[in-house]
Amino acid sequence: MNEYRYTLEPYKGMSTRYHCPDCQEPEKTFSRYIDTETGEHIHPTVGKCNRESNCGYHFKPKQYFQNNNISFDATQPKALKPKFVTPPQKPVSYIPVDVFKASLSPTAYETNHFVKYLITLFGVEVASELVSRYFLATSKHWNGATVYWQIDTYGKIRTGKIMLYSPTTGKRIKNHTTIFIGCIHCLNNPNLS
Ligand SMILES: [Zn+2]
Repeated sequence: MNEYRYTLEPYKGMSTRYHCPDCQEPEKTFSRYIDTETGEHIHPTVGKCNRESNCGYHFKPKQYFQNNNISFDATQPKALKPKFVTPPQKPVSYIPVDVFKASLSPTAYETNHFVKYLITLFGVEVASELVSRYFLATSKHWNGATVYWQIDTYGKIRTGKIMLYSPTTGKRIKNHTTIFIGCIHCLNNPNLS
């Protein structure tokens, strides 16, 4: 992120001026910062009040990004940024069908948190339809975890994503996501049921 990327919006009539979030002056005394790459404003509070002596409000983009833990790596000029290099193509590997099938076993659903939650929401019938439509599977990776299989247009199983949900709220449990790419990782994981 380049500091010069963010600049106060140039004056183009009163539609480009705003009410100051600090002094609440009835006139539009506030200029907002824009991202020169996208032309978009940062945040309604990021800008500068022109009542310098009476108000003095000036909230800079850098401060805003720091406050919100958005990375702001100072002032690297654009031209020196490393060019994007296309990674070499990896050979495609697939997940074996029997691994896929085992994960869809109906007995596994008794422990699957996300399926339990779907049942409380929609009842068994709708929940089981959703399960088969989206290939929702179960993993022992974490107790009650759900697997989303990604199946390509040729019907091959490309990857699986394992996530853990709370059975009562249906919300994802933080830091409980694992992505398996290809069958090697999948077979190396004895916990995948
Ligand atoms: Zn002000």
